Amino acid sequence: MDRTFLIKPVLDADYPLIDYGKGVYLYDAEGKEYLDASSGAITANIGHGVQEIIDAMQEQAKKVSFVYRSQFTSEPAEKLARKIANLSLPNLNWCFFVNSGSEATETAMKIAIQYWQEKGVFTKTKVLSRWMSYHGITMGALSMSGHTGRRARFIPLLEDFPVIQPPYCYRCPYNKEAPECGYLCAHELETIIKRIGADHIAAFIAEPVIGAAGAAITPPKDYYKVIKEICERHNILFIADEVMTGFGRTGTMLACEQWDIEPDIVTLGKGMGAGYTPIAATLVGDHVMEPVLKGSKTIMGGHTLSANPQACAVSLAVIEYLEKNKIIPEVEKKGAFLMNELLELQKQYPFIGDVRGRGLMIGLEFVQNPADKIPFPRDYQVTERLISLAQMNGLLLYPAGAGSDGVSGDAVMIAPPLTISNKEMEELIKRLKETLQQFF
Ligand code: PLP
Repeated sequence: MDRTFLIKPVLDADYPLIDYGKGVYLYDAEGKEYLDASSGAITANIGHGVQEIIDAMQEQAKKVSFVYRSQFTSEPAEKLARKIANLSLPNLNWCFFVNSGSEATETAMKIAIQYWQEKGVFTKTKVLSRWMSYHGITMGALSMSGHTGRRARFIPLLEDFPVIQPPYCYRCPYNKEAPECGYLCAHELETIIKRIGADHIAAFIAEPVIGAAGAAITPPKDYYKVIKEICERHNILFIADEVMTGFGRTGTMLACEQWDIEPDIVTLGKGMGAGYTPIAATLVGDHVMEPVLKGSKTIMGGHTLSANPQACAVSLAVIEYLEKNKIIPEVEKKGAFLMNELLELQKQYPFIGDVRGRGLMIGLEFVQNPADKIPFPRDYQVTERLISLAQMNGLLLYPAGAGSDGVSGDAVMIAPPLTISNKEMEELIKRLKETLQQFF
């Protein structure tokens, strides 16, 4: 019997073995080319095989790869913290490094709870969130995640955190349209806060644009203003989970900038190392750190590899690359091009019920028929089969939605490296068209 020891996502599936990557393309051991229209898991933001990043890795490795954060600090970690603070919103001046998005949201949750403790309030321990959200796979992060499929096995171990409806305009639970709706889904937060009691709630967490659980669900303009105002009025911190949306994915360094709100805590991951290294961060506002600085003077969190100099040097090189090549300012224009092409495709394929998103984070939701928006039955496995057909056609798409809240339908995300050229976007659309033609 052939024995194999690597635990893969689906144990009995065949995965192509990747040999190398260059730009937006990946090549497997048999020489097949894949256009990476999903940046892996919306991560490879500057594409593959970038020489400047490889050089930075080598340079840092020659100096030192690891120091333990409770013994030393390092130049790359100090520089990166400063750089990120300068690039993000003015009040977010504190930066806690971790290794994955899940660790970043878990840390955000702990800092929010600690903030209230440092102020002498010990009852505020819940972190509310939305259905159709994903904040990570560790227990605290999963507790906050409104992702039915990923929660199911662990329900007895999870805090029952998610509480409100997502701003899912395509399937508005109130059957209304923004802005006439008055943002009823945001106002739900207040109702729930009153029921639970603000004395028990430390924070509310949300992804500015919903990713893995909803395929680029993009709230209307004033949605977050309502959320933030409710949080402030009830003394509840607002955490923006920008693990997927951060680092320019939606056209600005943080997606929050586009809704004109300042979160109290922000999480970053994915694009921060752009796939070249595991690194993530929790950014904390001055006002949140203030009671900690006056109190215990330490954040109860962290991991052995937090603020690892090698990872920090790589992330710095990624930021330099983004800046030097003026990549983020181009994202809006590239996103608009792709969005237009996809809206054209929607006219030909009515099974594409919705095209949505911001910048280079675009979602397609599939329905049986656009008039009634009824999702395909789950056992049709539309997302899974479409993704695998696209892969055969040399196109990588990201699975999102597919009943992540137990209700909604099949969906994929298109989120190529931010460095994608016009010619490559045309090739992306060509391969997608071929795939849709064969599938529907
Ligand atoms: N937060 C968001 C918004 C994410 O999209 C993800 C991953 O998809 C996470 C957190 C968890 O990040 P990681 O998989 O790096 O732990």
